[in-house]
Amino acid sequence: MPVGREGDRTERARAIIRRLARAYPDASIALDFSNPFELLVATMLSAQSTDTKVNEVTAILFSKYRRPEDFLAVPEDELKADIRPTGFFNQKTRALRAMSQKLLESFDGEVPGTIAELVTLPGVARKTANIVQANAYPQLARKDRDAGIAVDTHVGRLAVRLGLTDFGSKEAGKIERDLMDSIAKKDRLRAANLLIEHGRRVCIAKRPLCGHCVIEPLCPSSQRAGLADRYRLARG
Ligand code: SF4
Repeated sequence: MPVGREGDRTERARAIIRRLARAYPDASIALDFSNPFELLVATMLSAQSTDTKVNEVTAILFSKYRRPEDFLAVPEDELKADIRPTGFFNQKTRALRAMSQKLLESFDGEVPGTIAELVTLPGVARKTANIVQANAYPQLARKDRDAGIAVDTHVGRLAVRLGLTDFGSKEAGKIERDLMDSIAKKDRLRAANLLIEHGRRVCIAKRPLCGHCVIEPLCPSSQRAGLADRYRLARG
């Protein structure tokens, strides 16, 4: 029987990931980095910012700040000025310095690879931990029982529209648990990048392009099929 718009979430999630993987074979994280530490810093800077803006800033930042020690060696105001274009620079400066301090104190200056260790770093919650692990330590992610799926604004919105969660798009922790229940571990690494890619290109927040959507036959929010948008309904 073909997988439809309703019904078993695991089967629908598998079919959705399969179709998205065919549509976006090169889907990957949009942040530029060359090692786990750079990825961690870039991910922390990306809060309330765009990946493009973060990449502009880190293109210069990473030639000056290469190790945790470098974030502690400069005066706070200098670091603030260096990351200012990413917004919320006061909080981000504090978080970057505290994270660097903890890396030096507890992890010999290296970024750890397990979710349990990553979330001990100041300023690092599950979303950042999942992004760092999935993209910097994919081998570890396959073995880590705490490995999940980074739920950002795109992943949250798509999970709601696709009926892969019972919760609203702001409830990232609960959405992540629903996605972990329905997306097989082997697919989790690429699932977030695929959903983000689709959210940016087609399943846009304000005006989803349902007529151009490769997962339209699997979507209970398809406007092409005249269905209500679950994301808008949940937001009221
Ligand atoms: S059919 Fe429309 S609402 Fe559903 S995933 Fe595709 S673009 Fe988004």
